[in-house]
Amino acid sequence: MSLDCIFCKIANKEINTNLIYEDENVVAFNDLNPQAPTHFLVIPKKHYASLNEINEKGEFENIFSAVPKVCAKLGIKEYRTVVNTGASAGQTVFHIHVHVMAGREFGWPAG
Ligand code: AMP
Ligand code: ZN
Repeated sequence: MSLDCIFCKIANKEINTNLIYEDENVVAFNDLNPQAPTHFLVIPKKHYASLNEINEKGEFENIFSAVPKVCAKLGIKEYRTVVNTGASAGQTVFHIHVHVMAGREFGWPAG
């Protein structure tokens, strides 16, 4: 846990957030500023500032295996996943999170 990390506070339930999924290792919740009709984030309960900090193989599985589970729960079959790593890539919260967006067309390459 990182003391000033907002996503740690969400995962530890210090901030009251409507979780759309939770298991032993991860939680998922809707993005505060959605970029698509459905836009949620999947985060590990354990603090890692970014993808670069994850050195436990099982943690990738924990995070990414939750994505299709949450999508199935929401009835979503097609979606865009994004992991911004570093400020120049658009990362603003330094606790790794996978963005999952659905409900509109997505262009490529991503902007
Ligand atoms: P990124 O720019 O990839 O680091 O994404 C951070 C995301 O977290 C943004 O899409 C924000 O809208 C979202 N966000 C920040 N604070 C909260 C919060 N308290 N609850 C839900 N989403 C948040
Ligand atoms: Zn954190």
